[in-house]
Amino acid sequence: MRIDVISVIPQVFGAYVSASVLGRARSRGVFEFHAHDLRDWAHDRHRTVDDAPFGGGQGMLMKPEPIFEAVEAVGGLADVPAKVIFFSPCGAPLTQAVAGRLSHAPRLMLVCGRYEGMDERVYALADEVISLGDYVLTGGELAALALTDAVVRLLPGALGDEMSARDESFSDGLLEYAQYTRPAEYRGMRVPDVLLSGDHAAVDRWRRESSLTRTALLRPDLLASADLTADERTAVRRVLGSRPTTGEGDEGHV
Ligand code: SAH
Repeated sequence: MRIDVISVIPQVFGAYVSASVLGRARSRGVFEFHAHDLRDWAHDRHRTVDDAPFGGGQGMLMKPEPIFEAVEAVGGLADVPAKVIFFSPCGAPLTQAVAGRLSHAPRLMLVCGRYEGMDERVYALADEVISLGDYVLTGGELAALALTDAVVRLLPGALGDEMSARDESFSDGLLEYAQYTRPAEYRGMRVPDVLLSGDHAAVDRWRRESSLTRTALLRPDLLASADLTADERTAVRRVLGSRPTTGEGDEGHV
């Protein structure tokens, strides 16, 4: 996969995409990453990319001309057409399903906003508009990195262990089960005996139950679209029925 990012601060991406899992994947050629400075497509010698909003109001907006020209020019840097993604709190939420779908694209172009956002006309260039969540960031760069990270780790060869991307949170619509490593007892907290038993079938059953319980308690909104058997649905209803009527977030980590 090839990823091109357009931003007014292209220097912020290098450290993250060069370190750890992404860094290794990149040096093995699993993905290419190119950051471009939007100001290269500004029209004046001050390299201006923003202007005041029509109709008045606070702050500055990103002008359409540099963005159109940058997207067109960067698009031409490789033969394969890019899926063009803009970032905005008004976009569709970034989920594991979105990351999974985008991981099949041969090329992504990520366009990061700054200031008070962008002239609305630039969205004519967008194949998708994505939000990192219901909060406002100072720019789209963190959203671009979050998307890059979530997508790249799904690419074949990105993770050392091919299994590890399959088993985790959201892969079957549920949160991941609780996990433990050595020591078996720490500060009086013991690892569940079944995980030390060597009985793989029992471990699988325990993990499935752990996934179901914590999803039911922490993220019941995920259950509607999760892949559950009829027995599991009944069990989950029991867990939810016995749920204490405390405020949100009171359940702690299960
Ligand atoms: N005035 C805008 C926010 C602008 S924030 C509004 O109220 O919707 C400036 C830029 O940061 C945006 O153009 C976008 O690219 C990025 N950004 C801010 N919050 C974001 C979020 N939750 N998800 C994705 N991008 C975000």
